Amino acid sequence: MTAITLQPRPTDPSVDHAIQAIVDGASTAETCNTDLAAGPWTFDDRPGYGPGSSMGDVIPTGSPRQGELPQSYRDASPEELDARIVAAKAALGDRAVVLGHFYQREEVVRHADYVGDSFQLANAALEHPDAEAIVFCGVHFMAETADLLSQPQQSVILPNLAAGCSMADMADIDQVEECWEQLEDVYGDMDAVDADGLVPVIPVTYMNSSAAIKGFVGRHGGIVCTSSNARTVLEWAFARGRRVLFFPDQHLGRNTAKAMGVPLEQMPMWNPRKPLGGSSAQELDDARVILWHGFCSVHRRFSVDQIDKARAEHPGVRVIVHPECPMAVVDAADESGSTDYIRRAIEGATEPTTFAIGTEVNLVQRLAADNPQHEIFCLDPVVCPCSTMYRIHPGYLAWVLEGLVDGEVRNRIVVPDDVAEPARLALERMLAAKPPEARPSDWTNAS
Ligand code: SF4
Repeated sequence: MTAITLQPRPTDPSVDHAIQAIVDGASTAETCNTDLAAGPWTFDDRPGYGPGSSMGDVIPTGSPRQGELPQSYRDASPEELDARIVAAKAALGDRAVVLGHFYQREEVVRHADYVGDSFQLANAALEHPDAEAIVFCGVHFMAETADLLSQPQQSVILPNLAAGCSMADMADIDQVEECWEQLEDVYGDMDAVDADGLVPVIPVTYMNSSAAIKGFVGRHGGIVCTSSNARTVLEWAFARGRRVLFFPDQHLGRNTAKAMGVPLEQMPMWNPRKPLGGSSAQELDDARVILWHGFCSVHRRFSVDQIDKARAEHPGVRVIVHPECPMAVVDAADESGSTDYIRRAIEGATEPTTFAIGTEVNLVQRLAADNPQHEIFCLDPVVCPCSTMYRIHPGYLAWVLEGLVDGEVRNRIVVPDDVAEPARLALERMLAAKPPEARPSDWTNAS
């Protein structure tokens, strides 16, 4: 593989610069959609998730839509937006804390007080109980999780309401309730324990799911997991249930259960559009893990061919992929792990190393810029960021921060109490299954 130069300068972590260079003809790299070069306000009101990796996914009816961003923010230059954000943050001081997900564009991350994965960031907010506002530069389910864990008087703000997550949206609460009813028809009383003291099925949801799904899981004796603790959580579930119903990401569920020795034939997929999810009652009876038909459109772009090419063209390359990648890709890689695992693996490498990384390009570009002693490239040669993360543009960040300065809370995310209570229970079970290894101070941004 030819070394992939995504950016006009090798040390530039900006995916936006890379895309602008492609559109301007200054770079011969490819992007999955040149519309990404425009401000997200041009596609906020389109039917799909917008240009990027999840543009082909369908947004469920009723998903939040973003209102029109005022013209002055659309017209502002990058430099002006930077200056406005800096000024608003200075005016707010400790009244607001800005959180930036690993997959956010560089132009937003540079203003974050903390950078991390979704759960790390929700925990980071706990360190600021006196902040009036938590501005979450991530996607909708992340802001919901922050709201679940924050103080009641704190406002959690999502700068662009159209920043959903196509994977989280694949597990709709009505479909999940319907699935549970159908499983009851197969398994009988879901609270009855068998001779081994196990109930028929324990629901497990990935952190990347709506608060409604977390609440469902909490109400039915289930638990939340992250990509870091999925195995520990599945062990917790198997100690209590004969089977696991895992959603929304089939790949994380399959990769984790397979590594634990669960045979693939005992992992049927649940397709919500088919009776009994597309399996027979016997197959469901034999199941150990029932996998919801969901996936991340960013991570399913990675392929074994990309890994073969990286190995052929970079002898000795270390291939690390995220466990949201398909099983064949995880099997072909040298390692798989969460975003934080990938970050730590790179930062912990003592010798100059070539890394081929299978995760979202904004994080890969940042890791490459921050670790010039290594050669780091994204396995996917096409510049194709998560389309929904990409909707958090500096213009929206400036708009919500300036709103706070003026005493106006814009785009507040609130989880209703009847959902929040069981959702917190599911999160608490996860924390009791295994406390997070890292303390927030381990991953704070320099600021
Ligand atoms: S990268 Fe995948 S899982 Fe993460 S927000 Fe985007 S679509 Fe959702």
